[in-house]
Amino acid sequence: MRVLIVEDEVKMAGLIRRGLSEDGLVVDLASSGEEALWMAGSTEYDAIVLDVMLGGIDGFETCRRLRIDEVWTPVLMLTARDGIEDRVTGLDGGADDYLVKPFSFAELGARLRALARRGPIARPALLEAAGLRMDPATHRVWRDDQEIALSATEFVLLEAFMRHSGQALSRFQLLERAWDHDYENRSNVVDVYVRYLRAKIDEPFGTDSIETIRGVGYRLRSRKSTP
Ligand code: CA
Repeated sequence: MRVLIVEDEVKMAGLIRRGLSEDGLVVDLASSGEEALWMAGSTEYDAIVLDVMLGGIDGFETCRRLRIDEVWTPVLMLTARDGIEDRVTGLDGGADDYLVKPFSFAELGARLRALARRGPIARPALLEAAGLRMDPATHRVWRDDQEIALSATEFVLLEAFMRHSGQALSRFQLLERAWDHDYENRSNVVDVYVRYLRAKIDEPFGTDSIETIRGVGYRLRSRKSTP
């Protein structure tokens, strides 16, 4: 199993390399995010260990760019203690796991083996369907290059559609995915919000993304459509 360690502190990098080598892993080192992008693009690794704090582009940005380059190698981020925000940012940016410094090499090795078993899976951080692009982490949506402003509820409803594009979803399924349990269960609220969505994601663009499926509910087309 071959892993890439991205850490700018020479001493720390050396310690990790030694710890993992003793555990039977083949370890390459990169001392910057830029170097890591280059190495991960030219060598196939089973996993990448990415420190958040790096000299040039940081670990988050490195991870984001790896995914943009369609490198789907599992990424484990090393974050600072108590850095809950760091963990959230890392996972939203396409990382698969994180470990808080200081950590034990035994645990790092075990986590890396678990990630390597999973293998590289294409999991774009951005959702795309029906000619729409959505970044769930930053709550932004675009059609072509034009950004669309949505309310919080419209956004969650569209996210439910985009995560299941091409599938017919019942009003109940949509209610379950986009409204919390406190919400009074009235199915016409879905119809109302689908109307709001259509007015924002389709009507201004002359498209027809959300189909009404009689007797069932709605379906977001997976491909871009023009009526
Ligand atoms: Ca560092």
